[in-house]
Amino acid sequence: MDIEDDEILQSEFQDENRPSSGLSSVSGGSSSIGDEDYKPENMASRMPPPQIYVERTLAIIKPDAMDKANEIEDIILRNGFTVIQKRKVHLSPEQASDFYVEHYGKMFFPSLVAYMSSAPIGVFVLAKEKAIKAWRELIGPTNPFKARETHPGCLRDTYGKDQTRNAVHGSESFLSAEREIRFMFHDSIVEPIATEQAVKIYLSKEVNPTLLQGLTELCKTKPGDPVIWLADWLVDHNPNKPNIGGPVVTETE
Ligand code: GDP
Ligand code: MG
Repeated sequence: MDIEDDEILQSEFQDENRPSSGLSSVSGGSSSIGDEDYKPENMASRMPPPQIYVERTLAIIKPDAMDKANEIEDIILRNGFTVIQKRKVHLSPEQASDFYVEHYGKMFFPSLVAYMSSAPIGVFVLAKEKAIKAWRELIGPTNPFKARETHPGCLRDTYGKDQTRNAVHGSESFLSAEREIRFMFHDSIVEPIATEQAVKIYLSKEVNPTLLQGLTELCKTKPGDPVIWLADWLVDHNPNKPNIGGPVVTETE
C-alpha cells in the first residue's frame, strides 16, 4: 500500500546520517594483537560499548488539529521526545480503514475512516525512553470530554473537539507502534534492529564474559583439540552451574 506524500516535511535526521533505529553505535578500531591483548580486561575494552535501545512510537496530528501542528510539535519537543521522522500525508479512505483495521465493525468505524481521510494529517516517529507510554500519557484519554475531567492539560483536553475529532493519535503497544511506523514509513526498520539489539544485550550479559575468559585460557594453553578443550572448559566454568560446594544450609521450622 502506498501513501502519497502531500509534502515530506524536513526530517530532523536523514537515514544516511543516523542509525535508522535511533540507536547509537560506535565501533572500535582494530590493530595487530600482541600477548597483552589476550588479557580479558584488554579484550573487553576492544568490544564495542553497549548500545542503548530507545523506544519509538507513532504519533499523528489528526485533521482537526493540523492548524495547531507547530504548537503541538513544540510540546512534543519540550517533553523530551526526539522527532526521528515526520511527514504530512493525506490518507485515502482505504488507507485509513487499513490503519484502523482493529476497529472494523465498530459503530464509530465509518465516521473514523471518513474523518481520518478527510484532510491531511501530520505523522511523526517519536523516540524517547518508554516513548509509547510517555506519549499516551501526554495525549490523554480517547474522549476529550473525559480527558478534560481526568487529565486536564493533556493534548486531547487542549486540542480535542469531540470523541472522533480528538486531535492526536498514539500507538498503544510495542507491536502496534511497530506496525504503525511501518505503515506510515515504509523504509523504517523497527523489529530487526530491536531484535538484534536484544540479542547483543543477551550475549554481552550472559555469554561473552565467560566465553572471553575461556578463549583467553585457550590461547594460553594451546591444546591439540581446541574445540573440545573449550567445550570442557565452559562446562567446568559455567557460571550458571549450581554451586554444591557451598555451606550446608539447614532448614529450621
Ligand atoms: P485511541 O487509541 O485513544 O486513539 O482510541 P481507540 O484506538 O479506541 O480509537 C481510535 C480512534 O477512534 C479514537 O482516537 C477516536 O478518534 C475514534 N473513537 C474511538 N472510540 C470512539 C467512540 O466511541 N465514538 C467515536 N465517535 N469515535 C471513537
Ligand atoms: Mg488506539
